[in-house]
Amino acid sequence: MQQAKATKHYDVVIVGGGMAGLALAAGLADTGLKLAIVELAEQAPSWQAATFNTRVSALSETSRQLLDSLGAWPAMQQLRVNPYQGMRVWDSQGTAEVAFDAAEAGVSHLGYLVENTVTQLGLLEVVAEQLNLDWYSGVEALALSEPLTTQGRRELKLSDGSVLEAELIVGADGANSRVRKLGDFKTREWNYGHHALVTSVRMEKSHANAAWQNFSDKGVLAFLPLNLDGDNHWCSIVWSTHPEEAAELLALDEQAFNQQLTQAFEGRLGKVELSQARQVVPLRQRHATDYVKPGLALIADAAHTIHPLAGQGINLGFADVAALTQVIKQAATAKKPLGSLAVLNTYQRQRKPDNLAMMALMESFKRLFATQNLPVLLLRNLGMKLVNKNPWLKRQLIAQALGLRPLG
Ligand SMILES: Cc1cc2nc3c(=O)[nH]c(=O)nc-3n(C[C@H](O)[C@H](O)[C@H](O)COP(=O)(O)OP(=O)(O)OC[C@H]3O[C@@H](n4cnc5c(N)ncnc54)[C@H](O)[C@@H]3O)c2cc1C
Repeated sequence: MQQAKATKHYDVVIVGGGMAGLALAAGLADTGLKLAIVELAEQAPSWQAATFNTRVSALSETSRQLLDSLGAWPAMQQLRVNPYQGMRVWDSQGTAEVAFDAAEAGVSHLGYLVENTVTQLGLLEVVAEQLNLDWYSGVEALALSEPLTTQGRRELKLSDGSVLEAELIVGADGANSRVRKLGDFKTREWNYGHHALVTSVRMEKSHANAAWQNFSDKGVLAFLPLNLDGDNHWCSIVWSTHPEEAAELLALDEQAFNQQLTQAFEGRLGKVELSQARQVVPLRQRHATDYVKPGLALIADAAHTIHPLAGQGINLGFADVAALTQVIKQAATAKKPLGSLAVLNTYQRQRKPDNLAMMALMESFKRLFATQNLPVLLLRNLGMKLVNKNPWLKRQLIAQALGLRPLG
C-alpha cells in the first residue's frame, strides 16, 4: 500500500515544465514566493548540436525580449538561434507574391527560428539556480480539490501520491491540459481539417535568411530558415495539409517524399533532401471560454491552440506568461490572495481579447486560402499585389508580426 505523504504548501504550483511553465517560474524568481513545477517528463530534453530538433518555433521580437529579461536568451544563443530578415509569401494558384524585408521596416530582424528544446534548455538553466522552486518530475497531476477557502486555495494530488497545496495552481500543461479538465474549464474547439507534417531538410540553394511560405487551397507549406555552423542551406518544414495527404506524405519513401516536396515548393530553393524523420501533428483550434477560476489559471496552449501558419502559438503563450507574472507580482506586493478572482480576472481581461483576435485572423487566412471561389481567388491575388506595393502597409504588418503592436 502506498504510504500517505505529508501535504506540501506553496504559493504557486505550475503544472507543466514546457516553454510557458518554465518562463512563468523564471519570471517569479525574485518574488520570494514559494513555487513548485510538476512535469510529466522524467528528464530534461536532450540536445544534439549536429542535428535539428523537429519542433521549431518562430519567436517574435517581443518574445525574445521576454526571454532576455528572464536571463535565458544568452544561453539559447550559445546553443542555436536563427535570426531571419526576410519573408516570402506566395499564392500557388495565382501570380501574386509578397516580400517582407527587415530593412524596409527599419529593424534588424523579422524574428528568430528556434528549436523548442533550445528555448526549454535556456529557461532550464535559469530555473536551475532558483532557490524558491521545488521540482516534481516524472509525475503527473491526477486530482484537484474544490477551493478549500473563499480565496481559492486548493490541493493537487500527483501520481506519486504527493499532495501539494497552493494559493494558485497554473495549468501550463499544453494542448491536452489535465488542469483544464480537472478544473472543468469549458472550451470552444474544432479541427482545422489540417495536419502538419514537420521535419527538416537540406536544400540545394541557400534560404537567404528568409522564411518562405507557399499558400494553396490544400494548405500552407513553410520553409523556415535554420543554420548549422554558418551553413544556411537548412530549413525546418511545416507542411499543413489535409489529413489524408499528410498520411500519404508520411508513408512515401524518402526519395519520393523529396521529389514531392521539391515540386510542391515549385523548386524555389532547388532540390531538397530530408535530413530527419517526419512527424505529423493534428491541428486543432481550441480556446478556453475562461482562463481563470478561484485558485486556478490557464496559460499558453492549455488556454488556447492556434493554426501554426503565422507562427504565433508560443508568442501568444509568452504574452500570457508576461501578463500573469505581473499580476502575481502586484498581488504579492499588495498582500492580496493570489488565487482570488479579483486578482486573476485582471490577467484574463488583459489576454483574452488579443488571443481571440489572433485566432480569428488565422481562421480567416485559412478560409481565404482554402476557397475555390473565383472572385475570391482574384481578390486574394490582387490583395497580395497591393500589399506588396504598399511600403506603409508592409511596415504595419511587420510591426504586428514582431509583436510590437497589439492586434485590433
Ligand atoms: C507544427 C507546429 C508549428 C508551430 N510553430 C510555431 C511557431 O512558429 N511559433 C510559435 O509561436 N508557435 C508555434 N507553434 C505552437 C507552439 O509549439 C506551442 O504554442 C508551444 O509548444 C506551447 O508551449 P506550452 O509550454 O504551452 O505547452 P507544451 O510545449 O505542450 O508543454 C507542456 C508541458 O506540460 C507537461 N505535461 C503535460 N501534461 C501534464 C500533466 N498531466 N502533469 C504534468 N505535466 C504535464 C508536458 O510534458 C510538457 O512538458 C507551433 C505548433 C505546431 C503544432
